[in-house]
Amino acid sequence: MSPGELFILSAPSGAGKTTLIHSLLSGGLDGFGSIHFSVSHTTRQPRQGEVNGRDYHFVTHEDFETMIEEEAFLECAKVHRNFYGTSLAEVVPRLRAGVDVVMDIDVQGTERILQRFPRADVAPLRAAVHSIFIIPPSYTALAQRLRGRGPHDPDEVAGRLAVSAAEMRRAGLYDYVIVNDDAASASKALASIVLEKRHRRSRMRGELESILLTFDER
Ligand code: ADP
Ligand code: 5GP
Repeated sequence: MSPGELFILSAPSGAGKTTLIHSLLSGGLDGFGSIHFSVSHTTRQPRQGEVNGRDYHFVTHEDFETMIEEEAFLECAKVHRNFYGTSLAEVVPRLRAGVDVVMDIDVQGTERILQRFPRADVAPLRAAVHSIFIIPPSYTALAQRLRGRGPHDPDEVAGRLAVSAAEMRRAGLYDYVIVNDDAASASKALASIVLEKRHRRSRMRGELESILLTFDER
């Protein structure tokens, strides 16, 4: 069986990753199967409406450090003021079972995953890793979105905006770039990347072979 595809999504905070991932998970693939959202661990407090286990695994600093010691993370990083990490258990068994996974991680996490893939335990999955950078149409639009989203801690917003320019300059790490100006168009672009990867011949081999069997001896 070919492995599932891993879609790494990054963006400066507020550019709209969460919005686009929700749209992908809730029908964006338009009947073409489903995709698993990789739920990260974080030490940050939940925002209003966020659910433990669905949006993040919200954990204490102590629990996070234990996971680092146990080498439970595929990658982890300090982002803004908190720690975030993707556990191996969340991603690797699913890819091996042929399930597609989408993850929302920052540029440091992307870099760490791309550096880690040559390691023998995950190397066979490298060809299935695709990275996508979501960008806002402008700095002003990003600032408006961050201020509009809340929580409205001005220091938090200022901190996220302060690192956004450095994050934007890391676009070269990524295979794809999507400008999230109109959300519906950006959602379509994201879904089309996922579908294109699913329809590569290497991925379609099993289905192709079983259909070919119906043509045998004709
Ligand atoms: P991220 O996950 O990248 O931090 P969010 O998806 O939380 O960003 O989006 C930040 C804010 O911008 C939210 O209030 C969201 O509703 C809004 N937003 C997202 N996409 C667009 C868009 N295309 N146009 C206008 N506002 C948007
Ligand atoms: P937020 O606090 O807005 O949910 O996320 C802040 C930043 O942390 C975003 O850039 C998001 O992509 C990143 N992030 C979320 N989960 C992970 C993760 O598991 N690893 C890394 N490296 N970054 C993450």
